[in-house]
Amino acid sequence: MTEINKIIRELDHLQESARTLEATSPHRAVLMEEVRGYAEDFLNKLPEAKAFTNDGFDRTEKDDFFSIDESGETLSDILSFIKKRVNHAGFNSASGGYMGYIPGGGIYESALGDYMAAVTNTYAGIFSASPGAVRMENSLIRWAGELVGYTANFGGNLTSGGSLANLIAISAARTTHGIKGKDLHRSIIYTTRHTHHSNQKALKICGMEECPIHYIDLDENYRLDADQLADRVRSDRASGLNPFLVVGNAGSTNQGAVDPLNEISRIASENKMWFHVDGAYGGFFLLTDHGKKKLQGIEKADSVILDPHKGLFLPYGTGMVLVKEIRHLLAANSFEAHYMQDAREHQEEYSPAELSPELSRHFRGMRMWLPLKLYGLEPFRKNLDEKILLARYFYWKIKALGYDTGPYPDLSIVGFRYVPEKGDANEWNKNLVRHIQEDGRVFISSTFIKDIYVIRCAILSFRTHREKVDLLLDIIEKYTKKHSTSTVQ
Ligand SMILES: *Cc1c(COP(=O)(O)O)cnc(C)c1O
Repeated sequence: MTEINKIIRELDHLQESARTLEATSPHRAVLMEEVRGYAEDFLNKLPEAKAFTNDGFDRTEKDDFFSIDESGETLSDILSFIKKRVNHAGFNSASGGYMGYIPGGGIYESALGDYMAAVTNTYAGIFSASPGAVRMENSLIRWAGELVGYTANFGGNLTSGGSLANLIAISAARTTHGIKGKDLHRSIIYTTRHTHHSNQKALKICGMEECPIHYIDLDENYRLDADQLADRVRSDRASGLNPFLVVGNAGSTNQGAVDPLNEISRIASENKMWFHVDGAYGGFFLLTDHGKKKLQGIEKADSVILDPHKGLFLPYGTGMVLVKEIRHLLAANSFEAHYMQDAREHQEEYSPAELSPELSRHFRGMRMWLPLKLYGLEPFRKNLDEKILLARYFYWKIKALGYDTGPYPDLSIVGFRYVPEKGDANEWNKNLVRHIQEDGRVFISSTFIKDIYVIRCAILSFRTHREKVDLLLDIIEKYTKKHSTSTVQ
């Protein structure tokens, strides 16, 4: 037998099994129906489902079903496993009772967008590969840039989340300022202790761990003290240092505080520093009148990040970076490779691959564009207005229960704690959080501000409405009545 005949025989044999990966239309319908049933069951039970549970997941037990074998299992077995072992224990971040960390919810229509992006396997990295997909993503960048107040020459990228968006912005800052290894020790970064740790992480990944971070104090509203920033930059320059980057918060994760962006931008531009604004939590409040006022000055930042999987309620997996001058983004991410030569032709628009570390990537635009296109902006705006008011509602109600609160919320996070007449306040409040988490109908998390344990109520899920906030208040009130030594008004 000639070699070619042998190859043909072998190919006929291999394709029998290889074709298993291409489901027939009737089989696809069966698979889809089962997954749809699963999703319906999940969503229909969601209003009553717990926001947190530790039940049903033995962390020490090894689950054989997780392992991958030579042959497969049935979808129904797989789905019942997922229900029990994957979508059960832990935070239920789809729940409207989820008010821990930073919620979002995960709107259903985004999943449909993901489904279409994945079924078509659209290549969204390069314009010539899918001009329509890249144009869709660029139109989302343009929309968000205009929302921030950028006017011309800006660019951006849809990332997997806020952390990667911060990384891209910080790498652009480094490239633009030409910070070389020998300069790291005198290249100074300014921010506050309430800045999200993904910024420090980004500095580390960008090789800037050796840059000193000069932490600026917070004022009584947990906002960066701009006078102190100005003084510090002045004295650092006088000592021959190179202040080059300041990171401000458009809503801190900790307490939702918005730094004085106008003042910071003035100091940054006077000193020729890169001004980065982390708006992962708060940025999309720009859709509201209140947010527009609070976030004034954001348009002066050299870079801004937003997290559509927070403020636009998308499922996890979408962040966004915007850079005021697209050339800075290009300079930090440009690439050349011979095997890419065909793809570089016919480029009427910038491609995500030129503006970010990624090449092949999920077509993220679809999950964001579809819901915005389907419903328009109004329900998003109304949701954000509702969250702002819910936070104020909670603020007054929790005060009335005798709790100390932080400042009046800038956006939709309220810090609070109870000070018992006797005993350790931190312990008392830790026990309250433990009680709420054990109850599980709502989920909240905590933080430390200096040495003080503070509980956070973070309202941002599109599924959180007044009844869930009332439920949280009810759980707290009952607990307080039982455990307080002082009388509660
Ligand atoms: C959530 C958050 C981040 C990190 O974003 P991920 O999407 O979790 O990676 C960064 N900054 C702030 C202010 C955040 O709230």
